[in-house]
Amino acid sequence: MTFSLLPYRDQLGLKDGNLLIANEWVAPQGGQSFDHVNPCTNETIIKIADASEADVNAAVMAARKAFDEGPWPRLKARERRVYMDRIAGLLAEHSQELIQAQTLDNGIPAMFGGAHIMKDMPEDLFKYYGGWIDKIDGKVHPVFTDQEPNQFISIRQPVGVVGAILPWNAPILQMPLKLAPALAAGCTVVVKPSEMGSLIALKIAEIINEADLPEGVFNVVTGGPKVGEALVTHPAVDKITFTGSKAVGGRILAAAGNDIKRVGLELGGKSASIVFPDAPSVEFAATATMSQVSMFLSGQVCSTTSRALVHSSIYDEFINHCEKQVQDVKFGNPFELDVTSAPIISKVQMEKVMTFIERGEQEGAKLVFGGDRPEGDLQAGNWVNPTLFADVDNTMQIAREEIFGPVLAVTPFETEEEAVRLANDNPYGLSGGLYTTNIGRALRVGKAVRTGTVGINGYSFMPNSPFGGFKQSGLGREGGEEALNAYLETKTFIINEDV
Ligand code: NAD
Repeated sequence: MTFSLLPYRDQLGLKDGNLLIANEWVAPQGGQSFDHVNPCTNETIIKIADASEADVNAAVMAARKAFDEGPWPRLKARERRVYMDRIAGLLAEHSQELIQAQTLDNGIPAMFGGAHIMKDMPEDLFKYYGGWIDKIDGKVHPVFTDQEPNQFISIRQPVGVVGAILPWNAPILQMPLKLAPALAAGCTVVVKPSEMGSLIALKIAEIINEADLPEGVFNVVTGGPKVGEALVTHPAVDKITFTGSKAVGGRILAAAGNDIKRVGLELGGKSASIVFPDAPSVEFAATATMSQVSMFLSGQVCSTTSRALVHSSIYDEFINHCEKQVQDVKFGNPFELDVTSAPIISKVQMEKVMTFIERGEQEGAKLVFGGDRPEGDLQAGNWVNPTLFADVDNTMQIAREEIFGPVLAVTPFETEEEAVRLANDNPYGLSGGLYTTNIGRALRVGKAVRTGTVGINGYSFMPNSPFGGFKQSGLGREGGEEALNAYLETKTFIINEDV
């Protein structure tokens, strides 16, 4: 190993993690903890508390009490907004620390620290949802028939106690995406970060705790699947919002069915870039598509376009440009500003990626480049070289399953109809990219592709617009007004006007 990340931990002053319950940092009742390992070096960075069922119960009951008896859901709009603005201000003040903590957590290269998602999104989400608080209004429904003397009025109320379960890949974004609308709606929350991404979640929690929210409004319990299960099955939790894999999402949906909890699911994807001959340029489309799997989190992003459907007339040119793009990839110490790409989050996941690559070769796809790991000192981390398979048939495993690694599967097509059919022939429906300068085609194909988002010659996220999946990529949306509505219930008053 040529570098160590421990000096960055010391510089950030990170200490072993505890649980945040009713605004106090407390040790887990069973005294258990686990190592948090950074995937760039596989060094242990800090120890994270492993919550017991009793700890989860304490956090849920603190949130329950805060909801049932505390001021939070009853605050006047202006008062709740003051807290949201305070949190936004604190997140902005500490944004550099947050970016560094996220890098230390999972190896996102520091070169992306200036990106909107890393830098401004946490603050923006609290500002945006803070702005909704005085707009959560109701409706007076016109009296439908004179047979009934009743006036119907509906109002919106917070859903209650929310259990928020996070994935490891970008909690700097995912934690505010859940917390900001839930708190704005008047809910109280227990967050369970991923066991592989707790460090940044604890840093965000430390910052939010400085805002002095009423006791028990915001709680954090750390640990693995058992902690998540305890939260999902706790009878005092009203809603689960989950971001993670399809397999775990399915389990959560089944478990939540016992007591009909509200469930929001943001799951995986196997999104396709569709590249037409009239793309702005083949180089632009190839660079944008390939860099989604080769740069930043090396394909470990839910919306990654890990399939490229490319018109046969530009197929070879597209692949050549992908090969050129990966020459810009650099692995190493993620705090160095020329390092472009993260390693795979764990050794287990790295083995899975390598197994997918073997499977691709066995199934007869053409390995154009990559498929291996870098040599030398980098072997200490979990890096996998950017990999491109050409001539991929849509029935192959590498075309169907979410690999969550730096692997692009390229398939040729002849007609627009064939491109749409190939894009939709997958159980997932999260996102996708279209590369064309024909506006009619962009809209036609964009509507026909069954995914929650479609990028037309580009892709990004904004706090005020919805993001989520069709089909097996999820239930509900995050971002925008739709996410706020997911934390509200509608109540209808029927008022007899004759009394
Ligand atoms: P994961 O499903 O393995 O784990 C997610 C969380 O669920 C973790 O906190 C984990 O501890 C918890 N968990 C595991 N088993 C559980 C159970 N039985 N009950 C309750 N909780 C349980 O996912 P991951 O590896 O952390 O994240 C990667 C996945 O997340 C990918 O599939 C990716 O596409 C998806 N993702 C989706 C979005 C989106 O917005 N759609 C965003 C980011 C990541």
